[in-house]
Amino acid sequence: MSTVDSILQIKNLKTHFPVKSGVFNRVVGQVRAVDGIDLNVHRGEVLGLVGESGCGKTTLGKSILQLVQPTSGSVHYRSASDSLESSAESGVPVDFIDLCALTTRELMPYRQKLQIVFQDPHSSLNPAFTIFGSLEDPLRQCGISTRAERRKRVGDLLEAVNLRREYMDRYPTEFSGGQRQRIGIARALSVNPELIVCDEAVSALDVSIQAQVLQLLKDLRRERNLTYLFITHDLSVSEYICDRVAVMYLGKIVELGDAETLYRNPQHPYTRALLSAIPVADLKRKTRRIVLKGDVPSPVNPPSGCTFHPRCPEAVERCKTEAPSLRTNVQNRHPHSVACHLIDCSALQSESKLPRNN
Ligand code: SF4
Repeated sequence: MSTVDSILQIKNLKTHFPVKSGVFNRVVGQVRAVDGIDLNVHRGEVLGLVGESGCGKTTLGKSILQLVQPTSGSVHYRSASDSLESSAESGVPVDFIDLCALTTRELMPYRQKLQIVFQDPHSSLNPAFTIFGSLEDPLRQCGISTRAERRKRVGDLLEAVNLRREYMDRYPTEFSGGQRQRIGIARALSVNPELIVCDEAVSALDVSIQAQVLQLLKDLRRERNLTYLFITHDLSVSEYICDRVAVMYLGKIVELGDAETLYRNPQHPYTRALLSAIPVADLKRKTRRIVLKGDVPSPVNPPSGCTFHPRCPEAVERCKTEAPSLRTNVQNRHPHSVACHLIDCSALQSESKLPRNN
C-alpha cells in the first residue's frame, strides 16, 4: 500500500509508564504498555486492534490521539482537507504531520479530525447536562456561534445516529445504554472527524444492541468516508466489521493482515489460540480449543526472547533468547505480517506451517 493511501503512519511508537517505589519515589521500572509499534492506517478502512485485556490496545489508541504522551516514536497524520488534489496540482509532495512533535496548542486543529468513542456509554456523558449541552460545546469550538445553528446541527447529528431530534433536551439518565452509545458517536461526529478510535465501543452493550450500533458505524463510515481504529477484545465483533486486523501481545503487534485471510488462516500461535476460543455454530469451521498456559506476563518485566514463549505451545529453544521481528510477505495480494520464528513469511500463502489443531 503506498503512502498516498495512508491517513496515519506510526513508527516505532513506545509508551512506557514509570513504576515508582520507596520514600524517595525512585523509578524502579517501566510498564512497557506500547513497545515499538509500526503500523500504517489506510484512509477509509476499519483496522481492528485485538488481544487480551492488558495487552496495550487502549494505550496505543490513546497514544495515537496524544491523550497519553508517547515515550518515543512518531505518529504521522495526513488530513484529507488540504490533500491530494491541491498537492497534486501544486506539485508539492504530500506531507504528514508528526502529532508527537506538536505542542498542545498546535494539536488543537488535529484533535477535531481524530476523535474517540469510549467503551462506557454511562460515564462518557455528563449527567448534569442535557444532550444539547453535551454536544454544543464542540460545535461552538468549531465556530458555530449562534444557538439556533447549534440546535439544528445537534438535531441533524441525532438523526444521523437514528435518534429523534427532540431527544436533545433530555438528560443522559433518560436513555438506554445503546442510545447513550449512539449519542457518544454523535458527539464524535459533531466536529467532522476523519478518523475515529472506537475503544471497546460495543463491549458494554447487549448482543442485539451491539449489532445495531455496529451497523450504524458501518453506515456512517460509508456515508462520511470515515476511518476507524476499532479496539476490541471480542474477535467475532472484529471479524464482522474490520477490513484488516492487528493482533497485539504485551505491547507489540504479533500478526497483521486482512481480516478474511487472518480469520481463515491465522499464522501466529497466539492468534490461533484466540480464534479457537470463539464459539462457532458451523461444525465445519469448528477447531479444537487451544488453552494457553498461565496469565499474560507483567509488562514491567516481560519474558526474554519472544515474550509469548512461556505460554506458547509451539515454543522452541531459540524462542527463549531471540525476539522475532514482524516480517511481511509483500508478494501476497493482501500483505500478511507475522512475528514468529517458525513462520517463513516469504512462503506465506494459504496454509500455515504450524501443525493444525482441528
Ligand atoms: Fe511461539 Fe516461538 Fe513463535 Fe514466539 S517465536 S510465537 S514462542 S514459536
